[in-house]
Amino acid sequence: MTLPIKGRFAPSPTGKLHAGNIFAYLMAWLTVKSIGGSMVLRIEDLDPERSKRYFADGVMSDLERLGLTWDEGPFYQHDRDGAYEEAYEALAQRVDIYPCFCTRADLAAASAPHFGEKRVYPGTCKRLSASEAQDRMAAEDEPAWRISVPDEQVSFSDALQGQCSMDLATECGDFIIKRKDGAFAYQLAVVVDDAAQGVTSVVRGIDLLSSTPQQIYLQSLLGNPHPEYAHVPLLVSKSGRRLAKRDADASMEQMLERFGSPEGIIGHIAYITGMQPEDAPASPEDLLKSFDMSKLSEAWKGKISIPWE
Ligand code: GLU
Repeated sequence: MTLPIKGRFAPSPTGKLHAGNIFAYLMAWLTVKSIGGSMVLRIEDLDPERSKRYFADGVMSDLERLGLTWDEGPFYQHDRDGAYEEAYEALAQRVDIYPCFCTRADLAAASAPHFGEKRVYPGTCKRLSASEAQDRMAAEDEPAWRISVPDEQVSFSDALQGQCSMDLATECGDFIIKRKDGAFAYQLAVVVDDAAQGVTSVVRGIDLLSSTPQQIYLQSLLGNPHPEYAHVPLLVSKSGRRLAKRDADASMEQMLERFGSPEGIIGHIAYITGMQPEDAPASPEDLLKSFDMSKLSEAWKGKISIPWE
């Protein structure tokens, strides 16, 4: 049985939208709409400290203004602990999940890693004996929980990046699926939600390419289908950094001033990324007519970033 085509917007409500997010969301929308699919909106507010309701509301109203429509949701990850717990239990039946007491920024390691920050866990806590682990559990604060990975290649075909292959043990390492603070980690939540929400198409920034093998591994263990992936280049500032909240010229407010309308913003992003030949206003609907993933994959070959200008 083939599943209906479904994509997703999965913003973390930890800040306002900027041109880089808009580019990735535009690509996600065009990818599924060009083949008759629908979009889900999922608010990834796993991190209670950093997620803010007003950012979620702001992102939704910006998406609406930009014509980046969704057909289902919003679904909030903060409502989904029961589903994550169930998946966690199922994984624990199948593979070794062990407590990790390592102090190095566990919280950061369990959040979506960003481009160029590949962390391979050296396996320190895997080597603890059961009694050592017991003693430390009694004496120390709550541990994080890591899932063991086998020494296996995970291969997938990315619609933009081509054939990708990574070794779980040497390139990913055992990774955190439950954080010290008790929150489930990004990798687990995203896999559970993509399956529950029927997501078949994942289009997102290339900074998350290195998370994909981990997600495919969890999907396989849980018996979930594998979505199709496309990882889009990042928009970067003049200094070559990925755009962030501090790049005020890429914020919605300043872009609205500069380009005059939501269509002006979309049209400019489409122009600098080579999706349309002129810097002219365009809605996502307008871009649909000429959208061609295989042409973009040719045009962006080997490109991991595109300058924001
Ligand atoms: N919530 C993540 C972010 O905004 C995206 C996760 C994903 O697309 O898998 O960076």
